[in-house]
Amino acid sequence: MLIVMHHSASQEQIDRVIAEVEAMGLQAEPIPGSLRTAIGVLGNQGYVDDTTIRNLPGVRETIHVSKPYKLVSRDFHPRSTVVTVGKARFGDGCPPVIIAGPCSIESEEQMLAAAEKVASAGAHMLRGGAFKPRTGPHSFQGLGIEGLKYLRQAGEAVGLPVVTEVMRIEQLPVVCEHADMLQIGARNMQNFDLLKEVGRTGHPVLLKRGMSATIEEFLAAAEYLLAEGNDRVVLCERGIRTFERATRNTLDLSVVPLIREMSHLPIIVDPSHATGKRALVPVMSRAAVVAGAHGLMVEVHPDPAKALCDGAQSLDGDGFAGLVQSLRRLQEAL
Ligand code: PEP
Ligand code: MN
Repeated sequence: MLIVMHHSASQEQIDRVIAEVEAMGLQAEPIPGSLRTAIGVLGNQGYVDDTTIRNLPGVRETIHVSKPYKLVSRDFHPRSTVVTVGKARFGDGCPPVIIAGPCSIESEEQMLAAAEKVASAGAHMLRGGAFKPRTGPHSFQGLGIEGLKYLRQAGEAVGLPVVTEVMRIEQLPVVCEHADMLQIGARNMQNFDLLKEVGRTGHPVLLKRGMSATIEEFLAAAEYLLAEGNDRVVLCERGIRTFERATRNTLDLSVVPLIREMSHLPIIVDPSHATGKRALVPVMSRAAVVAGAHGLMVEVHPDPAKALCDGAQSLDGDGFAGLVQSLRRLQEAL
């Protein structure tokens, strides 16, 4: 960390900052300049909490060199992590993992029909929401535990591992019992208590980026999971909130190469929530793979027109089969 003093800071104020840094068990190296003095902080093992220093008289700003995450960073863990869920493998050197299924589990029949369609088309994992984080309380909230059972049954019937969202700590035991991978949704990316408990389960996790989260906040959220000893974490870009209303969110594809450089964790893309538009899902799926995504999460419904949630962004069985075909051709070309 670098502490930049005001140009008018007195020697007394500089000495006070130095004393404070030393009281934190760190070394302070003053760097006098023609206009102002800066103080380099040395000896830290990672991110320095600058709360006290920032507020001392004479301090203009603090500049961090270390990031608020370490365990997820490539600096400390250069080798790419591969996360295995059943037969699905997310990571460098593995073909993109395709996760598909309905936004919400609506009935036993709907879930099974969706599972059969995505499995026969070539999906590697099955998704379906049982606990749904809906914007308003009058929208369908999901079937809860009953839905988890249909998801598990459907996954077993077609031989695919399943992923589903967990919204609250109390739901964890039952979700762990029914799901191979736990999803933390965009709205809960910074629910730190949930992150800690999910980390403690040791279950594979799909962590979605918060809709207004910076890359640094996204990686710091993943750090909570790794700090509990769970490195079976896959990140998911699902679009961020911008001024643009032509799409549901704005797909920030540049995070894929950026995160691959900054972190050893795999990163996948959800083009369905990112665009909100069925017609854009295939092309943005291919774009994500070209950008280096380790997988995709795509919403597929046997009859999108009748979907209780997110029908406009859901592919039907044929649409999904066409997408998988085009991804195969793309993979060969790549
Ligand atoms: C979902 O994948 O079911 C979902 C609700 O997505 P997000 O958390 O990204 O909005
Ligand atoms: Mn959805």
